[in-house]
Amino acid sequence: MSDVSRRTALVTGASRGIGAAIAEVLSQTCFVVGTATSDTGASAITERLQDRGFGMVMKVDDDDSVAAAYDVLGDRELVPLVLVNNAGITSDNLLMRMKTEEWTKVIDTNLNGLYRVVKPVLRGMMKARWGRIINVSSVVARMGNPGQSNYVASKSGIEGFTRSLAQEVGSRGITVNAVAPGFIETDMTAVLDEKQIEMMTSRIPLGTLGRVDDVAHAVAFLASEQARYVTGETLHVNGGLYMA
Ligand code: NAP
Repeated sequence: MSDVSRRTALVTGASRGIGAAIAEVLSQTCFVVGTATSDTGASAITERLQDRGFGMVMKVDDDDSVAAAYDVLGDRELVPLVLVNNAGITSDNLLMRMKTEEWTKVIDTNLNGLYRVVKPVLRGMMKARWGRIINVSSVVARMGNPGQSNYVASKSGIEGFTRSLAQEVGSRGITVNAVAPGFIETDMTAVLDEKQIEMMTSRIPLGTLGRVDDVAHAVAFLASEQARYVTGETLHVNGGLYMA
């Protein structure tokens, strides 16, 4: 088991929304490195975390950017033993109208990004014989959603990836899980109009959209010592919208 006091957590997409909340909650127990796509976003993370971590640029759809970010961690002798793959985008359209770029961008960020970011952390976790990888999926991975075939394909891929990697690295004390948020109040859902929000909430047994903290606390549980016997699982945080 690794020394808790020196654990580093890497959270992608920590500049806003769910990722910012995850970084905040994890910073109570870990030294958090949060990523953004811009220097401004990275500085804002550093500002927020103060001595509990810092922000840096990492574009998960760009090999060179991911490699450069890991170089920064290496230079500072930081070995992430908790990794939260939260960065994600949407680019909605009905498949009939979807442009190749809309398909490719979403898959390359949400799914290929996972490959780019996860592979380099495995060695350090294996050496420590302890690790926590948490991948942020979405309720639509199970439900499907018209207009989101690209996004849903990426999120379903994330859940399959999670189950496979969990089987590969379990013997090394590394757990791999997913958290699947329902509809959470963030920039991503701010694009929905009042009518769409009303229609959504009418289908949610708990009667309201979720908050970023609801997801962050689920992630924190999976990152904790107490979750040692949970792996390959997808934890749904959706107010009952979908019951797996
Ligand atoms: P958000 O508010 O739109 O924030 C997205 C985050 O991802 C930002 O930090 C953004 O960085 C980062 N990002 C975007 N493109 C990136 C790239 N190419 N490389 C690295 N980082 C990138 O999103 P959110 O609503 O918090 O969602 C976070 C995660 O939860 C996503 O995976 C999303 O699919 C999932 N989710 C959200 C909901 C929801 O209702 N909100 C529901 C289910 C699942 P910048 O600030 O630098 O752009």
